[in-house]
Amino acid sequence: MDINNILITSGAIGGVGLTCGTALALAAKFLAVKEDPRVEAMDEILPGANCGGCGFAGCADYAKAVVLDGAAINLCAPGGNEVLELIAEAMGQEASAEEKRVAVVMCAGDSEKAPRKHLYNGVADCTAAAAVAGGDKLCKYGCLGYGSCARVCPSGAIEFKNGVAIVHPDLCISCSACVRACPRNLIKMVPVSKTIHVVCSSKDKGPIVKKACQVGCIGCRMCLKLAGDAFEMEGFLALRNYDIPVENELIVEKCPGKCIVKCGASEAPSPEATEPTPSEPSTEPAEATTEGQT
Ligand code: SF4
Ligand code: SF4
Repeated sequence: MDINNILITSGAIGGVGLTCGTALALAAKFLAVKEDPRVEAMDEILPGANCGGCGFAGCADYAKAVVLDGAAINLCAPGGNEVLELIAEAMGQEASAEEKRVAVVMCAGDSEKAPRKHLYNGVADCTAAAAVAGGDKLCKYGCLGYGSCARVCPSGAIEFKNGVAIVHPDLCISCSACVRACPRNLIKMVPVSKTIHVVCSSKDKGPIVKKACQVGCIGCRMCLKLAGDAFEMEGFLALRNYDIPVENELIVEKCPGKCIVKCGASEAPSPEATEPTPSEPSTEPAEATTEGQT
């Protein structure tokens, strides 16, 4: 190819590039959508956890929704009352403070108290484990212990003790990510000041519960007799009514199913005393086989 052709072609390509670049630069300058400075200011107020607990894709999205679409100002649980007050001030609204809620796993059936019914050796994920014959635990409602909740917890608040998940309330930032991750729907957000819980989620009748777990609710209604409206029944399962305080704490000792516990921030298990939190899916088999095989 002759040198003139090369120069003409290079010049033409350069010219087209220069024209397009200039056009793009001008378009960026004149067609830019101006960001409302209040959105940026709101984003700076939010804690940056990006946990999605507010129902938006992240803090920036929530900031935009509050400023531009009038979204409720009290949806940032990790920010607590401090952030709520700042948002309220920025938006010229009244802050109505609510008590912090923390996650509690409503199951205490650890590997000693709740036997497995088959050997599961798939990936260490609770949804995957639950999909194989309804999970490897004899109790079809119990914690599977494969750490799906712990893996999504942004604050490392979930640890494992003998194969059952436990939330450390001091570390919980109330984002509810674990609630959404648990395929057994075992995790509930409860007011942080409430320390007495029914840590069982089995809907089975007493004899079936007894066979599957040593710490399960047998539906005897003893809690209702001793502590009244602080407890209520849903079928064969007792539930804690957190609106009513437990006046008679004797129920913790007297519960025949041994599934009513008292625990709080100060009584939470120390990380040293517990097993490490599973962080990576592994192909390690689950707990010892107790019956049958899938
Ligand atoms: S335990 Fe973790 S994931 Fe669950 S609500 Fe608390 S901070 Fe969020
Ligand atoms: S997600 Fe957490 S609480 Fe739910 S079954 Fe798995 S380990 Fe247990």
